[in-house]
Amino acid sequence: MNKTILHLDLDTFFVSVERRISPELKGVPLLVGGITDRGVVAACSYETRDFGVHSGMPMKMARELCPEARVIKGNAGTYSKVSDEVTEIIKEGVPLFEKSSIDEFYADLSGMDKFFGSYKYATELRRKIIRETGMPISFGLSINKVVSKVATNEAKPNNQLKIDFGLEKSFLAPLSVKKIPMVGDKTYQTLRNLGIRQVKTIQEMPMDIMQRVLGANGRVIWKRANGVDNTPVIPFHERKSISNERTFDRDTIDMVKLKGIIMAMAENLAYQLRRGEKLTACIAVKIRYSDFNTYSKQKRIPYSSADHILIPKIMELFDSLYSKRMLVRLVGIRFSHLVSGNYQINLFDDTEEALNLYQAMDKVRNRFGDRAVIRASAMGARTIGRMHNPFNGQPPIVLAHRKQ
Ligand SMILES: [Mg+2]
Repeated sequence: MNKTILHLDLDTFFVSVERRISPELKGVPLLVGGITDRGVVAACSYETRDFGVHSGMPMKMARELCPEARVIKGNAGTYSKVSDEVTEIIKEGVPLFEKSSIDEFYADLSGMDKFFGSYKYATELRRKIIRETGMPISFGLSINKVVSKVATNEAKPNNQLKIDFGLEKSFLAPLSVKKIPMVGDKTYQTLRNLGIRQVKTIQEMPMDIMQRVLGANGRVIWKRANGVDNTPVIPFHERKSISNERTFDRDTIDMVKLKGIIMAMAENLAYQLRRGEKLTACIAVKIRYSDFNTYSKQKRIPYSSADHILIPKIMELFDSLYSKRMLVRLVGIRFSHLVSGNYQINLFDDTEEALNLYQAMDKVRNRFGDRAVIRASAMGARTIGRMHNPFNGQPPIVLAHRKQ
Protein backbone atom coordinates (compact mmCIF):
# COMPACT_ATOMS: atom_id res chain seq x y z
CA MET A 1 0.00 0.00 0.00
CA ASN A 2 1.23 3.49 -0.77
CA LYS A 3 2.20 5.80 2.00
CA THR A 4 1.39 9.47 2.33
CA ILE A 5 4.33 11.39 3.73
CA LEU A 6 4.26 15.05 4.62
CA HIS A 7 7.41 17.15 4.91
CA LEU A 8 7.13 20.53 6.65
CA ASP A 9 9.93 23.07 6.69
CA LEU A 10 9.91 26.52 8.29
CA ASP A 11 11.15 29.11 5.82
CA THR A 12 14.46 30.83 6.66
CA PHE A 13 13.70 29.93 10.25
CA PHE A 14 16.09 32.16 12.23
CA VAL A 15 15.24 35.10 9.96
CA SER A 16 11.50 34.54 10.45
CA VAL A 17 11.91 34.44 14.23
CA GLU A 18 13.83 37.72 14.17
CA ARG A 19 11.08 39.26 12.05
CA ARG A 20 8.41 38.06 14.44
CA ILE A 21 10.29 39.81 17.26
CA SER A 22 10.92 42.95 15.19
CA PRO A 23 8.31 43.30 12.43
CA GLU A 24 10.11 46.34 10.99
CA LEU A 25 12.70 43.88 9.65
CA LYS A 26 10.20 42.45 7.14
CA GLY A 27 11.47 42.91 3.61
CA VAL A 28 14.86 44.12 4.85
CA PRO A 29 17.88 42.04 3.79
CA LEU A 30 18.92 40.21 6.94
CA LEU A 31 21.92 38.19 8.09
CA VAL A 32 21.74 36.17 11.31
CA GLY A 33 24.86 34.74 12.88
CA GLY A 34 28.03 35.80 14.65
CA ILE A 35 28.12 39.58 14.41
CA THR A 36 31.85 40.12 14.42
CA ASP A 37 33.90 39.91 11.25
CA ARG A 38 35.05 36.49 12.33
CA GLY A 39 31.51 35.24 12.84
CA VAL A 40 29.66 32.89 10.54
CA VAL A 41 26.31 33.36 8.74
CA ALA A 42 23.82 30.97 10.33
CA ALA A 43 20.84 32.15 8.26
CA CYS A 44 20.14 34.79 5.63
CA SER A 45 16.93 36.22 4.21
CA TYR A 46 15.87 35.68 0.59
CA GLU A 47 16.70 39.33 -0.14
CA THR A 48 20.42 38.63 0.42
CA ARG A 49 20.61 35.55 -1.76
CA ASP A 50 20.68 37.42 -5.05
CA PHE A 51 23.96 38.88 -3.82
CA GLY A 52 25.49 35.43 -3.55
CA VAL A 53 25.13 35.19 0.22
CA HIS A 54 24.53 31.77 1.75
CA SER A 55 24.56 30.28 5.23
CA GLY A 56 27.85 28.92 6.50
CA MET A 57 29.78 31.71 4.82
CA PRO A 58 32.04 34.01 6.89
CA MET A 59 30.05 37.04 8.07
CA LYS A 60 32.73 39.35 6.74
CA MET A 61 32.29 38.04 3.21
CA ALA A 62 28.50 38.23 3.44
CA ARG A 63 28.71 41.88 4.52
CA GLU A 64 30.95 42.68 1.60
CA LEU A 65 28.59 40.98 -0.84
CA CYS A 66 25.49 42.64 0.60
CA PRO A 67 26.49 45.85 2.41
CA GLU A 68 22.90 47.00 2.95
CA ALA A 69 22.00 43.89 4.97
CA ARG A 70 21.10 44.23 8.61
CA VAL A 71 23.20 41.90 10.75
CA ILE A 72 21.67 40.30 13.83
CA LYS A 73 23.34 38.15 16.45
CA GLY A 74 21.47 34.88 16.71
CA ASN A 75 20.00 33.46 19.89
CA ALA A 76 19.78 29.68 20.21
CA GLY A 77 17.40 29.91 23.18
CA THR A 78 14.81 31.96 21.31
CA TYR A 79 14.94 29.72 18.26
CA SER A 80 14.57 26.60 20.39
CA LYS A 81 11.45 28.06 22.03
CA VAL A 82 9.78 28.95 18.72
CA SER A 83 10.71 25.51 17.40
CA ASP A 84 8.91 24.00 20.41
CA GLU A 85 5.80 26.11 19.71
CA VAL A 86 5.58 24.65 16.22
CA THR A 87 6.33 21.14 17.48
CA GLU A 88 3.42 21.36 19.94
CA ILE A 89 0.95 22.28 17.18
CA ILE A 90 2.13 19.40 15.01
CA LYS A 91 2.01 17.03 17.97
CA GLU A 92 -1.63 17.98 18.57
CA GLY A 93 -2.60 17.43 14.96
CA VAL A 94 -0.58 14.44 13.81
CA PRO A 95 -0.29 11.13 15.59
CA LEU A 96 2.93 10.01 13.90
CA PHE A 97 5.59 12.59 13.18
CA GLU A 98 9.33 13.00 13.22
CA LYS A 99 11.20 16.15 14.16
CA SER A 100 14.20 15.89 11.91
CA SER A 101 15.77 19.23 12.69
CA ILE A 102 15.03 22.42 14.59
CA ASP A 103 12.83 23.65 11.71
CA GLU A 104 11.85 20.50 9.82
CA PHE A 105 9.29 17.76 10.33
CA TYR A 106 8.02 14.63 8.63
CA ALA A 107 4.60 13.17 9.26
CA ASP A 108 3.13 9.89 8.10
CA LEU A 109 -0.44 10.64 7.05
CA SER A 110 -1.00 7.20 5.52
CA GLY A 111 -4.44 5.84 6.07
CA MET A 112 -5.74 9.23 7.14
CA ASP A 113 -8.37 9.18 4.48
CA LYS A 114 -7.72 9.28 0.75
CA PHE A 115 -4.93 11.35 -0.70
CA PHE A 116 -7.06 14.45 -1.10
CA GLY A 117 -8.04 14.20 2.54
CA SER A 118 -4.39 14.20 3.53
CA TYR A 119 -3.66 17.20 1.37
CA LYS A 120 -6.53 19.09 2.88
CA TYR A 121 -5.40 18.08 6.32
CA ALA A 122 -1.83 19.21 5.64
CA THR A 123 -3.12 22.50 4.27
CA GLU A 124 -5.09 23.14 7.42
CA LEU A 125 -2.16 22.18 9.62
CA ARG A 126 0.08 24.59 7.75
CA ARG A 127 -2.49 27.39 8.07
CA LYS A 128 -2.79 26.73 11.77
CA ILE A 129 0.97 26.94 12.28
CA ILE A 130 1.14 30.21 10.37
CA ARG A 131 -1.85 31.64 12.22
CA GLU A 132 -0.74 30.63 15.71
CA THR A 133 3.01 31.20 15.48
CA GLY A 134 3.35 33.77 12.70
CA MET A 135 6.05 31.60 11.15
CA PRO A 136 6.01 31.08 7.37
CA ILE A 137 6.23 27.36 6.61
CA SER A 138 6.15 25.27 3.45
CA PHE A 139 5.24 21.66 2.82
CA GLY A 140 5.54 18.90 0.27
CA LEU A 141 3.27 15.87 0.16
CA SER A 142 3.98 12.63 -1.71
CA ILE A 143 4.51 8.90 -1.25
CA ASN A 144 7.87 9.20 0.50
CA LYS A 145 10.23 11.40 2.46
CA VAL A 146 12.67 12.23 -0.33
CA VAL A 147 10.09 13.31 -2.90
CA SER A 148 8.21 15.32 -0.25
CA LYS A 149 11.37 17.10 0.83
CA VAL A 150 12.23 18.03 -2.74
CA ALA A 151 8.63 19.18 -3.23
CA THR A 152 8.87 21.42 -0.16
CA ASN A 153 12.02 23.02 -1.52
CA GLU A 154 10.29 23.61 -4.86
CA ALA A 155 7.26 25.10 -3.10
CA LYS A 156 9.27 27.61 -1.02
CA PRO A 157 8.91 30.31 0.08
CA ASN A 158 5.75 29.97 2.16
CA ASN A 159 3.86 27.61 -0.10
CA GLN A 160 2.87 24.00 -0.58
CA LEU A 161 3.07 21.31 -3.23
CA LYS A 162 1.52 17.89 -3.68
CA ILE A 163 3.03 15.26 -5.97
CA ASP A 164 0.35 12.80 -6.99
CA PHE A 165 1.09 9.09 -6.95
CA GLY A 166 2.82 8.00 -10.14
CA LEU A 167 4.14 11.46 -11.00
CA GLU A 168 7.27 11.29 -8.81
CA LYS A 169 9.70 10.65 -11.67
CA SER A 170 8.28 13.29 -13.97
CA PHE A 171 8.28 15.82 -11.12
CA LEU A 172 11.97 15.17 -10.42
CA ALA A 173 13.13 14.83 -14.05
CA PRO A 174 13.63 18.50 -15.01
CA LEU A 175 15.29 19.48 -11.71
CA SER A 176 18.99 20.01 -11.16
CA VAL A 177 20.76 17.01 -9.61
CA LYS A 178 21.71 19.42 -6.84
CA LYS A 179 18.14 19.23 -5.58
CA ILE A 180 18.44 15.58 -4.63
CA PRO A 181 18.93 15.38 -0.86
CA MET A 182 22.49 14.15 -0.12
CA VAL A 183 24.00 15.58 -3.29
CA GLY A 184 26.46 18.00 -1.75
CA ASP A 185 29.00 20.25 -3.45
CA LYS A 186 31.49 17.45 -3.99
CA THR A 187 29.05 14.96 -5.48
CA TYR A 188 27.53 17.72 -7.57
CA GLN A 189 30.94 18.51 -9.06
CA THR A 190 31.56 14.84 -9.79
CA LEU A 191 28.22 14.60 -11.58
CA ARG A 192 28.83 17.85 -13.45
CA ASN A 193 32.19 16.56 -14.62
CA LEU A 194 30.35 13.59 -16.07
CA GLY A 195 28.04 15.98 -17.87
CA ILE A 196 25.10 15.18 -15.62
CA ARG A 197 23.01 18.23 -14.76
CA GLN A 198 19.42 17.11 -14.68
CA VAL A 199 17.81 14.41 -12.60
CA LYS A 200 16.37 13.09 -15.87
CA THR A 201 19.85 12.01 -16.99
CA ILE A 202 20.31 9.89 -13.87
CA GLN A 203 16.85 8.38 -14.38
CA GLU A 204 17.92 7.25 -17.84
CA MET A 205 21.18 5.70 -16.60
CA PRO A 206 21.54 2.16 -15.29
CA MET A 207 22.02 2.04 -11.53
CA ASP A 208 25.30 0.15 -11.95
CA ILE A 209 27.02 3.09 -13.58
CA MET A 210 26.07 5.40 -10.75
CA GLN A 211 27.39 2.83 -8.34
CA ARG A 212 30.65 2.50 -10.20
CA VAL A 213 31.20 6.25 -10.14
CA LEU A 214 29.99 7.10 -6.64
CA GLY A 215 30.06 3.81 -4.74
CA ALA A 216 27.25 2.93 -2.39
CA ASN A 217 26.09 6.55 -2.41
CA GLY A 218 25.58 6.24 -6.15
CA ARG A 219 22.91 3.61 -5.61
CA VAL A 220 21.06 5.77 -3.11
CA ILE A 221 21.26 8.80 -5.37
CA TRP A 222 19.98 6.76 -8.31
CA LYS A 223 17.03 5.54 -6.25
CA ARG A 224 16.25 9.03 -5.05
CA ALA A 225 16.47 10.40 -8.57
CA ASN A 226 13.86 7.81 -9.48
CA GLY A 227 11.60 8.81 -6.63
CA VAL A 228 12.30 5.63 -4.67
CA ASP A 229 12.74 5.89 -0.91
CA ASN A 230 11.58 3.60 1.87
CA THR A 231 12.89 5.46 4.89
CA PRO A 232 10.30 5.40 7.64
CA VAL A 233 9.10 8.36 9.66
CA ILE A 234 10.70 7.89 13.07
CA PRO A 235 8.09 8.75 15.68
CA PHE A 236 8.92 11.66 17.93
CA HIS A 237 7.91 9.78 21.08
CA GLU A 238 10.69 7.36 20.25
CA ARG A 239 13.08 10.20 19.76
CA LYS A 240 16.64 9.15 20.00
CA SER A 241 18.90 9.77 22.88
CA ILE A 242 22.52 9.00 23.60
CA SER A 243 23.74 8.14 27.01
CA ASN A 244 26.66 6.82 28.95
CA GLU A 245 27.05 5.56 32.47
CA ARG A 246 29.72 4.15 34.68
CA THR A 247 29.46 1.71 37.56
CA PHE A 248 32.44 1.89 39.89
CA ASP A 249 34.37 -1.18 40.98
CA ARG A 250 34.29 0.30 44.42
CA ASP A 251 31.69 2.85 45.55
CA THR A 252 33.20 6.29 45.79
CA ILE A 253 32.68 9.70 47.31
CA ASP A 254 35.74 11.20 45.61
CA MET A 255 34.30 14.38 44.09
CA VAL A 256 37.25 15.05 41.83
CA LYS A 257 36.97 11.59 40.38
CA LEU A 258 33.19 11.77 40.01
CA LYS A 259 33.27 15.13 38.31
CA GLY A 260 36.14 14.11 36.09
CA ILE A 261 34.17 11.12 34.87
CA ILE A 262 30.98 13.10 34.29
CA MET A 263 32.94 15.67 32.36
CA ALA A 264 34.61 13.00 30.25
CA MET A 265 31.25 11.43 29.47
CA ALA A 266 29.72 14.80 28.58
CA GLU A 267 32.65 15.68 26.36
CA ASN A 268 32.48 12.35 24.61
CA LEU A 269 28.73 12.48 24.03
CA ALA A 270 28.97 16.07 22.75
CA TYR A 271 31.58 14.90 20.27
CA GLN A 272 29.27 12.12 19.17
CA LEU A 273 26.48 14.64 18.63
CA ARG A 274 28.72 16.73 16.41
CA ARG A 275 29.96 13.69 14.53
CA GLY A 276 26.37 12.70 13.82
CA GLU A 277 25.39 16.32 13.09
CA LYS A 278 22.86 16.24 15.89
CA LEU A 279 21.75 18.71 18.52
CA THR A 280 20.27 17.93 21.92
CA ALA A 281 17.55 19.90 23.70
CA CYS A 282 17.41 17.90 26.93
CA ILE A 283 20.17 16.79 29.28
CA ALA A 284 19.94 14.36 32.19
CA VAL A 285 22.16 13.15 35.01
CA LYS A 286 21.72 9.94 37.00
CA ILE A 287 23.25 8.93 40.31
CA ARG A 288 22.95 5.56 42.05
CA TYR A 289 24.08 5.51 45.64
CA SER A 290 25.63 2.59 47.48
CA ASP A 291 22.18 1.74 48.92
CA PHE A 292 20.98 1.26 45.30
CA ASN A 293 18.62 4.21 45.45
CA THR A 294 18.77 5.88 42.08
CA TYR A 295 18.03 9.51 41.35
CA SER A 296 17.95 11.36 38.10
CA LYS A 297 17.23 14.85 37.00
CA GLN A 298 16.70 16.29 33.56
CA LYS A 299 16.54 19.73 32.09
CA ARG A 300 15.43 21.30 28.81
CA ILE A 301 18.07 23.47 27.20
CA PRO A 302 18.40 25.40 23.92
CA TYR A 303 19.53 23.11 21.10
CA SER A 304 23.26 22.54 21.28
CA SER A 305 26.17 20.22 20.60
CA ALA A 306 28.92 22.47 21.90
CA ASP A 307 31.18 21.41 24.79
CA HIS A 308 31.35 24.90 26.21
CA ILE A 309 27.56 24.99 26.57
CA LEU A 310 26.79 21.39 27.49
CA ILE A 311 29.54 20.59 30.00
CA PRO A 312 28.78 23.47 32.42
CA LYS A 313 25.05 22.66 32.25
CA ILE A 314 25.71 18.98 33.01
CA MET A 315 27.99 19.90 35.93
CA GLU A 316 25.32 22.25 37.29
CA LEU A 317 22.73 19.52 37.05
CA PHE A 318 25.06 17.06 38.78
CA ASP A 319 25.71 19.53 41.61
CA SER A 320 22.00 20.03 42.14
CA LEU A 321 21.33 16.28 42.11
CA TYR A 322 24.21 15.07 44.28
CA SER A 323 22.87 15.94 47.69
CA LYS A 324 23.19 12.87 49.82
CA ARG A 325 26.88 12.97 50.63
CA MET A 326 26.81 9.21 50.34
CA LEU A 327 29.00 6.73 48.50
CA VAL A 328 28.18 6.60 44.82
CA ARG A 329 27.87 3.37 42.91
CA LEU A 330 27.02 4.67 39.43
CA VAL A 331 26.85 7.93 37.52
CA GLY A 332 25.34 8.47 34.10
CA ILE A 333 24.38 11.21 31.70
CA ARG A 334 21.99 11.35 28.77
CA PHE A 335 21.31 13.74 25.93
CA SER A 336 17.84 13.43 24.41
CA HIS A 337 15.34 15.30 22.20
CA LEU A 338 17.91 14.90 19.46
CA VAL A 339 17.41 16.55 16.10
CA SER A 340 19.68 17.01 13.10
CA GLY A 341 21.58 20.22 13.06
CA ASN A 342 24.93 21.87 13.00
CA TYR A 343 26.68 23.16 16.07
CA GLN A 344 27.09 26.55 14.43
CA ILE A 345 23.84 27.29 16.22
CA ASN A 346 25.91 27.90 19.35
CA LEU A 347 28.53 30.02 17.73
CA PHE A 348 26.62 33.27 17.40
CA ASP A 349 28.83 34.87 20.02
CA ASP A 350 31.83 34.56 17.86
CA THR A 351 33.81 33.11 16.09
CA GLU A 352 35.52 31.19 13.45
CA GLU A 353 38.20 30.37 16.02
CA ALA A 354 35.79 28.44 18.22
CA LEU A 355 34.40 26.68 15.17
CA ASN A 356 37.89 25.85 13.99
CA LEU A 357 38.88 24.60 17.44
CA TYR A 358 35.97 22.14 17.50
CA GLN A 359 36.69 21.07 13.96
CA ALA A 360 40.36 20.57 14.74
CA MET A 361 39.66 18.57 17.91
CA ASP A 362 37.05 16.46 16.20
CA LYS A 363 39.33 15.81 13.25
CA VAL A 364 41.96 14.38 15.58
CA ARG A 365 39.29 12.26 17.24
CA ASN A 366 37.97 11.03 13.91
CA ARG A 367 41.46 9.92 12.98
CA PHE A 368 42.94 8.67 16.20
CA GLY A 369 39.88 7.80 18.27
CA ASP A 370 37.54 9.37 20.77
CA ARG A 371 40.17 9.67 23.44
CA ALA A 372 42.86 11.33 21.38
CA VAL A 373 41.90 14.79 22.63
CA ILE A 374 40.40 15.27 26.06
CA ARG A 375 40.02 17.95 28.66
CA ALA A 376 42.75 17.84 31.32
CA SER A 377 40.16 17.56 34.09
CA ALA A 378 38.62 14.55 32.39
CA MET A 379 41.87 12.62 32.01
CA GLY A 380 41.29 10.43 35.03
CA ALA A 381 38.39 8.79 33.28
CA ARG A 382 40.31 6.23 31.29
CA THR A 383 37.63 3.96 30.06
CA ILE A 384 35.15 6.50 28.75
CA GLY A 385 34.87 6.46 25.03
CA ARG A 386 36.00 3.85 22.53
CA MET A 387 32.46 4.01 21.30
CA HIS A 388 31.11 3.62 17.84
CA ASN A 389 29.34 6.31 15.93
CA PRO A 390 25.68 5.94 16.89
CA PHE A 391 24.52 7.79 13.79
CA ASN A 392 26.31 5.85 11.09
CA GLY A 393 23.32 3.67 10.38
CA GLN A 394 24.87 0.66 12.12
CA PRO A 395 23.00 -0.90 15.02
CA PRO A 396 23.86 0.93 18.21
CA ILE A 397 26.30 -0.82 20.48
CA VAL A 398 26.27 1.07 23.74
CA LEU A 399 24.13 4.05 22.95
CA ALA A 400 21.12 5.40 21.15
CA HIS A 401 18.19 4.22 23.16
CA ARG A 402 15.04 4.68 21.22
CA LYS A 403 12.44 4.73 23.98
CA GLN A 404 13.08 7.41 26.52
MG1 LIG B 1 13.97 25.55 7.07
